[in-house]
Formats: sequence, C-alpha cells, structure tokens
Amino acid sequence: MSQLLFKDVNKVYPNGYHAVHDFNMEIKNGEFICLVGDSGCGKSTTLRMIAGLEDITSGEFYIDGKLANQMSSRDRGIAMVFQSYALYPHLTVYENLAFGLMLEGIDADVIEEKVQATAKILGLTDYLERFPRALSGGQCQRVAVGRALIRKVNIFLMDEPLSNLDAKQRVTMRSEIKQIHRSVGATTIYVTHDQTEAMTMSDRIVVMKSGGYVQQIGTPFELYFYPKNLFVAGFIGEPPMNFIRGTVENGILNASGLQLNLAPVVRDVKSIEGKKVVFAFRPEAIKLEETQNSYKLTSKVELTELLGDTTNVYATVGAGDGRTNIILKVNPHHTPEMGAGFSFNVPYISAYVFDAETEQIVENDIERH
Ligand code: ADP
Repeated sequence: MSQLLFKDVNKVYPNGYHAVHDFNMEIKNGEFICLVGDSGCGKSTTLRMIAGLEDITSGEFYIDGKLANQMSSRDRGIAMVFQSYALYPHLTVYENLAFGLMLEGIDADVIEEKVQATAKILGLTDYLERFPRALSGGQCQRVAVGRALIRKVNIFLMDEPLSNLDAKQRVTMRSEIKQIHRSVGATTIYVTHDQTEAMTMSDRIVVMKSGGYVQQIGTPFELYFYPKNLFVAGFIGEPPMNFIRGTVENGILNASGLQLNLAPVVRDVKSIEGKKVVFAFRPEAIKLEETQNSYKLTSKVELTELLGDTTNVYATVGAGDGRTNIILKVNPHHTPEMGAGFSFNVPYISAYVFDAETEQIVENDIERH
C-alpha cells in the first residue's frame, strides 16, 4: 500500500496542449480512487504521470512522502492494467502469469506457488494450460489483472480495464476487482468514463472536465447528494439531473411559466436576487403524493419508457420558449398516459439551485439523504 500526494500537478504536452491543470489531491494508503470524465479530459494523462510514463510539467508528485517526479517507473512499485489485455498470444495462461517473474529470475517453485495462488483468486485454475485465443473476453481480462496482481505491488493503475467486455461481464468483473482490492489492499487508481463503475467501486471519485480541470473530489455519496457545480450534477446520476433555468425576482424563480419560492432551499435568497439560476432535481427524487415542504410541479408527458423496475417519463414543463424537457422516474404501476398532464412533487431536500453564470451551487443548509 502506498500513499500518493499531488501538489499543483500540471501536464503540458510538447505540442503545447495543456492536458491537466493544477491537480491537487492526497490519496490514502489502500484507497480505491476512480478518475471519471468524458473522453479527452485528462484521465489517462494523470494515470500515466503516476506510472512515470509521462513527465510532470510542473508541480510535485509524492509516493509515500518521497518526491517521485523523476523516479523511474520501475522504482514506483506499480502495476498497470490496460484496456487492451496485452496478453502474449503464443503463451499459455500459466506462462502469461509467470512471464514477469521469470524475467526477474525468480525460482521456478516460487513462481509455481505464486501462479497457483493468483489463479485461485481469479478463478483461473482450470484454464492455466489454455492459450488466450481459447478464453472469453472476461477471462482474458482476468489474466491481465492476474499479471498485475502477481507482482505484489503497492499501487494498482487501471485504465478502462472493462471497456472491451459486454455489459454482463462488466458487472461481474466490477465486483471481482472490488473483492480483489479488498483482499490485496493495494492503493488503486482506476480510470473510467462510466459513472456507474465509478459509483459502485470507489472510495472516492475525481470528476474531471475537458481541458483537464478537476471539478470535484468526493465519495460517491457526496458527489450524488452534494454536487458542487452543474457539471458534476449533470455527470453523476442516470438519467441525469433535471435543470430548469430562470431568473430570480423577489425571491421567486420565474422559469418556463413556473414560479418557485427559493427561500426554503438556499441560505440567503437575497444573494441571488435578480440573477439567472438553474433549479435542479433528480428524476428519481420526485414524489407523487403531495407532501409538506416540497414544490408542486405540473408537466406534460411526451413519452414513457417501461424498464421493468421503473418507468422513465419524458415530459415538459412550462410553455413557449421556456419549455424545458425533463425526465422523471416513476413506479411502473403509476405510469402516466402519453400526452396527459402529470403533477409531481419535488421535496425541498431534493432541490438544488445553481448560479447559472458561475455554475456553482448556491449555498444552502440542506441535509440531504
Ligand atoms: P482521457 O483519458 O480523459 O480520455 P487523455 O488523458 O488521454 O484523456 O488526453 C487528454 C488530452 O490530451 C486530449 O485532448 C488528448 O488529445 C491530449 N493528448 C494526449 N496525449 C497527447 C500527446 N502525446 N500530445 C498532445 N496531446 C495529447
């Protein structure tokens, strides 16, 4: 296990592209961290800097308190698993697992012991004599993880390791990787563009935005319930959070023909007087029964999608230019008719207000759960 520390780490590629801006973070021993964000936001670049495969342009990077900017890859105590499994096709599973240890000149009986132990953890014992071409995608990925695991390193780096697998295999491997992490305990940095992977696997998540800007670092709970800005609010959650834009007059949000009193959901309603804001709530946070301390909204149903355990309702609120598309999740037994009007409630504890200009959350004292 290792502890990592980033202080104002920047990456500017030789062509002048600034791929990572002022990355600051402390990663604790044994933490499982996911870097998420859209393609091109600097996730792999960050991972490659940790691995020592890319130079750090400015700032400081420490491993266990030691400045590591110039440390060679080999001395960093890392193992990396890539999206492409990069297995040797002409070697068996056993040989693929053993290869790195053989290069290090380790005794054959020690290698045998380690290969067997690793194969056992990953459920590969029955496949040791097979060649990669005779394995499924999930099994290949397990061998790739095994090759990293067998080296008993302190830091595991994984770059989209599951993206070549089908949906079912991804779910299985997700929990396997989590279990391996629990038993091995290595500090793990995992890159993905898939927020479900990040939410289910991480101790903490780093949300990045294109241009290499960190938007928020937090536990899955914090990012889901306490997004600091519009980007994180829209990125975490599926379907995404609903945004209704409008202007505040006398503490009332006027948006799309709606009028919502914002006093209950912001700390100081005067601070947003006259401003353009975004009123937001999650599709799954609505209530059908009228309750106290909630906003009552009326929408028009455009389309419904029965998913089995839930129905997604695509609807609009407001009229004319201000008409806004929203998505609501409802119990399938309460699926509304398409084209009909549909009333619902947004509890104050599930409502968010963002400043439309700065895109930051407007301060509030709401305890969300
Ligand atoms: P992600 O992993 O989030 O998809 P990357 O870290 O791979 O993003 O890339 C971040 C940005 O840096 C992208 O815009 C990419 O085009 C750019 N980039 C990556 N490698 C290089 C390079 N060697 N030279 C110049 N730009 C690069």
